[in-house]
Amino acid sequence: MNAPAAARLPTVDTGLSWSNSFAALGPGFYTRLAPRPLPAPCHVASSPDVAQQLGLPAAWLQSEDALRLFSGNALPQGGEPLASVYSGHQFGVWAGQLGDGRALLLGEAQTAHGPQEIQLKGSGLTPYSRMGDGRAVLRSSIREFLCSEAMHALGVPTTRALYLCGSPEPVQREAVETAAVVTRVAPSFIRFGHFEHFAARSQFDALQQLADYVIARFYPECADGADCGGHAGNRYAALLQAVSERSAALVAQWQAVGFCHGVLNTDNMSILGLTIDYGPFQFLDHFDPGHICNHSDRQGRYAYEQQPGVVLWNLYRLGQALQPLIGDPAIAMGALESYRTLYPQHFMQRMRAKLGLGAAHAGDSAVIDGILHLLADQAVDYPIFWRRLSLAVADADFEPVRDLFADRARLDRWLLSFEEHAALSGRAPDADLMLKNNPAIVLRNHLAEQAIRAAQQGDFSELHTLQHLLQRPCEDHPGHEARTGFPPDWAAHLSISCSS
Ligand code: AMP
Ligand code: MG
Repeated sequence: MNAPAAARLPTVDTGLSWSNSFAALGPGFYTRLAPRPLPAPCHVASSPDVAQQLGLPAAWLQSEDALRLFSGNALPQGGEPLASVYSGHQFGVWAGQLGDGRALLLGEAQTAHGPQEIQLKGSGLTPYSRMGDGRAVLRSSIREFLCSEAMHALGVPTTRALYLCGSPEPVQREAVETAAVVTRVAPSFIRFGHFEHFAARSQFDALQQLADYVIARFYPECADGADCGGHAGNRYAALLQAVSERSAALVAQWQAVGFCHGVLNTDNMSILGLTIDYGPFQFLDHFDPGHICNHSDRQGRYAYEQQPGVVLWNLYRLGQALQPLIGDPAIAMGALESYRTLYPQHFMQRMRAKLGLGAAHAGDSAVIDGILHLLADQAVDYPIFWRRLSLAVADADFEPVRDLFADRARLDRWLLSFEEHAALSGRAPDADLMLKNNPAIVLRNHLAEQAIRAAQQGDFSELHTLQHLLQRPCEDHPGHEARTGFPPDWAAHLSISCSS
C-alpha cells in the first residue's frame, strides 16, 4: 500500500551525511517503506537545539523542505526509511510481535555528536500497525515534544524531539482529534523488545547480530567483556550489566524528579538507557508514592513507587532474551545484580543533591526517608516543596516551606534533624547545588493540557512559552507564577490513558 506512494515522494537534500547502519543489519530486522504523507501539514514547533546537534541550521527548520520532510511528504536524500520489528511484554504479559506500528526511521545521520537516528512518529500504517491506524494525535504529540525536550534540559537521558507538525486530518480516538507527526532523534531506538523478538523465535544468529551491533556502536567497552563488571570473554553479559547500570541511573533520576513514565513495557525500554515513548507520563504534583498516572493501568503496575522494581523486572526479560548468548544463567543473574546495588546508590546521590549535600554520609537515608514520608503524609506538592526548600536555604527564610505543611511542628522537627545531621557530618547544605537539582518548572499535566487546548484552536503560543521555560527549568521565571505555581483544582481530574 505504501510502496507506490514511496516512488512518488520527492526528496529533500538536508546536507546531512547518512550512514543507515540499522538498515545494514538486513531485512530480518525491518520492513522498508515510505511514510504516508500528512495532508495540509503545518509547523507547530521545532527544537533549534536538536537541529544544532544534528548540524542542521536552525533557520532551516522554518523552511518548506523541513515541513515536507517531517510531515512525510518528502524523503531525505540518502536516508533509507524503514519500520523495525520488535516484540515485548506489556503489563507483565508476553504480547508477541509488535514493532514500529506508527513510527518510521528516516535514516541515521552522521553528526559531530556521533550517529543519530531520525524517526517520524505518526507517519502512517506499517506492517506492524496491528489494529492501529498508524497515526498520532496532536494532543499526545505535543506532550511528547515538550517532555522530550524538558527531560533533556533536566539532564535526564531521553530521546529528543526535533520537529512537530500538525494537520487537519481527523483521527478517531475516544473522540475525533487531528493528526500530528513528531520527529524524534536518538543514537538508536533499539528497545529491550528487539532482543526479545529474536530470542522468542529462536533466531539466535539475528539475536547475536543485533547484540554485536549494539556493542560495537554503543557499548564498545563491553566488546571483550573485561571492562564491564569483570565479564572477561562474555561480551553479552557485559552488555547486560552495562544496560542494567544505565537503567539504574535513569530510574533514579525519574524518581528524584518525580517523573512517572506510565507504560514501562519492555518495548518501551531503550537499550541505551534513554527515556523513550512518552505516553500517559506525569510529573507528580503532590507527593503520592502510589500515584498511577496511566488511567489504563488499573492494577498500578507502573505506579511511581513501582518503577525501580518494574525496570528490574524488564531487565530480567532482557537477560532472558540474551541468555542464549550469555550461556551460564548464573552469569546473567550476576550481571543483573548490579542494578540492585547501583539503583539505591544513584537514588541517594540524586536525593542528597536535592538536599544540597555533596558527599555521602551515614544517616543520609534516614533524613531522606523522613522527608519523603512527611511529604506523602501531608500530600505536599513535590516540585514546589523542593524549590522552596532550596530558596529557603539560600535566603535563610523557611516560612514559605512551612506554609506548605498542615502540621508545621512535624516539618520543624524534620528541619531540625536535617540541620543537626548536616552539621554532625560536617556539611552545610549548598543552596546552589539545591537550586540546580530542584527545578522551578516541570511539565505538569495541567501545563501540557493548557498548551494542548490552545493548540487545538490553532494557537501555539502557550506551547512555545512552555518550550522556552522548560529549556531552563532550574531558573526562576518571574512573571510566570501561574506556570511555576500550584496546579489548579481541575488538574486532579485530568485523565490520561494509553490512547494517543
Ligand atoms: P505504545 O503503547 O504506544 O508503546 O505502543 C505499543 C505498540 O502499539 C507499538 O508497537 C506501537 O507501534 C503500536 N501502536 C500504538 N499506537 C498505534 C497506532 N495508532 N497505530 C499503529 N500502531 C500503534
Ligand atoms: Mg511504545
